[in-house]
Amino acid sequence: MSRSLSASSQELLELAYIGLGANLGDLALTLRQALQALAVLPQSRLVAVSSAYRSAPIEAGGPDYLNAVAALETSLPPQDLLQALQAIELQHGRERPYINAPRTLDLDLLLYGQASILTASLTVPHPRLGQRAFVLHPLLELSPGLSAPGLGILADLLPAVAEQPIERLSLSLID
Ligand code: AMP
Repeated sequence: MSRSLSASSQELLELAYIGLGANLGDLALTLRQALQALAVLPQSRLVAVSSAYRSAPIEAGGPDYLNAVAALETSLPPQDLLQALQAIELQHGRERPYINAPRTLDLDLLLYGQASILTASLTVPHPRLGQRAFVLHPLLELSPGLSAPGLGILADLLPAVAEQPIERLSLSLID
């Protein structure tokens, strides 16, 4: 699962959190394959994967989602990491016919260390991170004391998402 890093890249390591979601096709297979793709990204090491969670779509119709969060140590710059995530999405046939359309695979860069990033193509922390139970629960499973720029202690945000249906599954996403 993990790949060794060169000494030079280790100096620049950041801990990034990636949100994974799918609601079309074989959901568990898609997330497993996406995690395998994350595990072989250059200059990166997959260090942790949350449980799988089932969540109801928000502001959209369609089937329930399968969600998880992965922690990735990486020296890829954030924009390069976003491009890598989008390439993995495309390998899974992701199309964007309309906003909040069902998707075979959605990968979001949730956090990149404690960086705040605002460019035309990338906002970190992810803009909806603090408002989604399917992000907060797996993130906090991996790092219960986690805080994020502009959001504070993430556990403090849980009461605001308590109405969003979500179920932690016993399903394993990694070997
Ligand atoms: P979505 O369809 O929700 O996956 O949104 C994809 C679009 O969001 C792409 O155009 C990205 O450039 C943009 N985007 C902005 N910030 C992020 C982020 N933190 N993670 C993933 N996509 C992002």
